[in-house]
Amino acid sequence: MAEFDYDLFVIGAGSGGVRAARLAAELGARVGVAEEYRIGGTCVIRGCVPKKLLVYGARYAGEFEDARGFGWTCEDLRFDWATLIRNVRREVDRLNGAYTRTLENAGVDRFLARASLETPHVVRLAGRDDTLSAKTILVATGAHPFIPNLPGREHLITSNECFELEALPERIAVVGAGYIGMEFASIFAGLGVAVTVLYRGEQILRDFDMDLRDGLAEAMRNRGVNLRMNANVAAVEKDGGAYRVQLKGGDCVTTDLVMAATGRVPNGSGFGLQQIGVKLGWNGHVAVDEFSKSSVENIYAVGDVTDRMQLTPVAIHEANAFVETLFNDNPTPVDHSFVPTAVFSEPELGTVGFTEGKAREMCRQVDVYKSRFKPLRATVSGRDEKMLMKLVVDAETDKVLGCHVLGGDAAEIVQMAAIAVRLGATKAQFDATRALHPSAAEELVTMRQRWEPPAPVAGSDAAA
Ligand code: NDP
Repeated sequence: MAEFDYDLFVIGAGSGGVRAARLAAELGARVGVAEEYRIGGTCVIRGCVPKKLLVYGARYAGEFEDARGFGWTCEDLRFDWATLIRNVRREVDRLNGAYTRTLENAGVDRFLARASLETPHVVRLAGRDDTLSAKTILVATGAHPFIPNLPGREHLITSNECFELEALPERIAVVGAGYIGMEFASIFAGLGVAVTVLYRGEQILRDFDMDLRDGLAEAMRNRGVNLRMNANVAAVEKDGGAYRVQLKGGDCVTTDLVMAATGRVPNGSGFGLQQIGVKLGWNGHVAVDEFSKSSVENIYAVGDVTDRMQLTPVAIHEANAFVETLFNDNPTPVDHSFVPTAVFSEPELGTVGFTEGKAREMCRQVDVYKSRFKPLRATVSGRDEKMLMKLVVDAETDKVLGCHVLGGDAAEIVQMAAIAVRLGATKAQFDATRALHPSAAEELVTMRQRWEPPAPVAGSDAAA
């Protein structure tokens, strides 16, 4: 008789949980997984995938505008939200089925129920009288949207509810200017909704390179998004069929829908972790070491619940490393260096490595190469929007520390550049690569001219 029912029990069947369950089972482990909502998790069910499909849908607005310069007549254009959201939901259902079959084919037992831990080895599933035991537990419960604690918070929707909308509002106010705020502002604007973004800070996308932040803000404003900085929401009140968003300082925005895009909180509480001794961090995340092990010997955690980097490929990497360590006799610490990331706003933004500001804090001397140019396509489409490419280089080693792109296909470009940056490529090696002409990305291997900050002029702001 085996000591435990399972070698591994995974709580949460999102990107990290499904990957770990499948790989461990393929290596011969007896694996069970519990999921309280739908197999696939945030990324597949109400995150990256359906969001990107909405992004594609919204981008046609700009494509139709651009097409005119190329001779197309685009008349009587109409958009039907019901068609788009129905097709997106169908794809989500398909993926949900594919993820379920993946687990099934690997021989993983699936339980569609909420799980809680009674001891470090004993799992209770909602709706069942018996319990299950496992040698190792993997917590992969993800995160949920955070809504600030302000009067009227019950009126706010989050990205989750955006996928449930049966009709588009005429106006929306988006609170927050991070990934989700910028992406949904662009989606709604593309689909014809009047969008106001309310952000408490000075400039959108706080931790990104300043040039990208400035460039994206300018481009989004030109595309009609009302970006309001230093806008702190004090309260939200219902006003007939609309909402009044009261700002600190007295100003007020009237809108049809208010969306909180104010971060995501790890799902670390409410299923027994603390009671059995698992240490949680400041925002409820499961604190783990480099092998994703928690403060309890047999309990591990991967993905958003650990709040290391809330990104799907990171959760998958953490799951791979966890399985290698525990089930393949190959201790593998996680590696979070040079993770590329993109914001699927309109225009799009992609980035890998250090921002100019961060590099200047770390290195004695930094060289910056920048190119801001009108893409070839815009010469005929007439779109007045520049693309931006930027390389941040350690002047002492010539290594490229950061690559930042704003404009069409930024995510695709940066994914490829990330290989070189991660391998420690130098600026000279970028330059030794032949350009692919005509493309926008060729700028990354042809930027010969170092960008120097303008010399301060006495008496001007820059000199202050
Ligand atoms: P972000 O952390 O990216 O942005 C949160 C925004 O909300 C910031 O502008 C923040 O302001 C603001 N904010 C936070 N708290 C408050 C508050 N109490 N009152 C007012 N404003 C507040 O979170 P998101 O929700 O946009 O996304 C969550 C995570 O999901 C991201 O960090 C990312 O890891 C992941 N994600 C990734 C995507 C991708 O890869 N393309 C897409 C979507 C999500 P401030 O800057 O001042 O803190």
